[in-house]
Amino acid sequence: MPSLSEETGGRIDHLEPGAVIGIVGGGQLGRMMALSARYHGFRIGVLDPTPDCPVDQVADFQIVADYDDQDAIRQLAERSDVLTYEFENVDADALDKVRDQVAIPQGTDLLRTTQDRVHEKTFINKHGAATARWRQVDGMDDLEKALDELGYPAVLKTRTGGYDGHGQVVLRSQEDLDQVVERTRRDEADGQGFPPSILEGFVDFACEASILVTGNGDRYVAFPLVRNDHRHNILHMTLAPAGVGHEVEEEARQLALRLAEGFELAGTLAIELFLMQDGSLVVNELAPRPHNSGHYTIEACSMDQFDAHIRGIAGWPLDQPRLLSPAVMVNVLGQHVKPVLKELTAHPEWNLHDYGKAEVRTNRKMGHLTVLTDDPQATARDLEATGCWDDLR
Ligand code: AMP
Repeated sequence: MPSLSEETGGRIDHLEPGAVIGIVGGGQLGRMMALSARYHGFRIGVLDPTPDCPVDQVADFQIVADYDDQDAIRQLAERSDVLTYEFENVDADALDKVRDQVAIPQGTDLLRTTQDRVHEKTFINKHGAATARWRQVDGMDDLEKALDELGYPAVLKTRTGGYDGHGQVVLRSQEDLDQVVERTRRDEADGQGFPPSILEGFVDFACEASILVTGNGDRYVAFPLVRNDHRHNILHMTLAPAGVGHEVEEEARQLALRLAEGFELAGTLAIELFLMQDGSLVVNELAPRPHNSGHYTIEACSMDQFDAHIRGIAGWPLDQPRLLSPAVMVNVLGQHVKPVLKELTAHPEWNLHDYGKAEVRTNRKMGHLTVLTDDPQATARDLEATGCWDDLR
């Protein structure tokens, strides 16, 4: 049986093979966590509303229920030794209620901080990292005042619940503001208040980047800085390494380790960054879990982000991950499945990962592929030249 250490707030000293890891959320991140947990010798349970979800296909059992169903969370806790989650919008109160039954090595402070953009940015700034200039906005008066201070263009984002650009709007002019005013009037007429929000100054970045960091509550290790290309607010491609010079990469590493220490991190955390023309780094947001931009680590690193996550929450020691080869990762969305499968036979170098989702939908993440290469830029061009991703041009 695992030994649960009281002083560390439910951290595991060393989870032994055979123990059960319960995952809240049954999508691709949970599936890749589960595959890793599986070959470490753990058993896996999952809570997800969709029967035969991607995690269930590789797990020991599934509880079919909504993520915030307290009874279902309790059932999962009863049948597990450790709980983790694959997405950040899990009900932290519901998890707190089962902490006497199961270890939750990541704790719930990390969740609460990263679920709310005000708490998140306050935490980041307090740990010596830059964010976009930002103001808390709780109504139209706040918004007008914040716009006076930050100026156009600016980005209005809901404090909670946003992802992949959902729940955010770019304000470039008075006309955009007028539209927000009109929408707010309509919402008020429907009995809905102004959603708690923040206004961010628009960051004129040179490129987007990210870095992963993993902890076991005691030691923290960072992965290489990578470069990300988004299309319509969804990650399209990751180039590893970012290739932006040692100094910037080292600064990102130090920043990641500082945040990890601040959280006393157990498991994997992703830090999404804007890289400025002058080489400085601005944190966009945090994700308290493995991340789409870290999928390249499966083939390209000595320890991948999922192994690192599992080892971290299991209280196992963490070795410094090394990049064994540069790599390019590209997402396969619903509209790319057919062209990619057609091209696959001509590309032995494509490492395809299929998430096992039953329903193919436009813009739904169905899989990804990773190519190991000596020249990520050239490989990115070769991938685009296949035409599979032409809809994103
Ligand atoms: P988010 O949902 O916060 O990750 O934002 C989605 C995407 O919107 C980011 O990946 C950026 O491309 C863009 N974005 C978000 N915030 C800003 C900002 N303050 N300035 C410029 N672009 C932004």
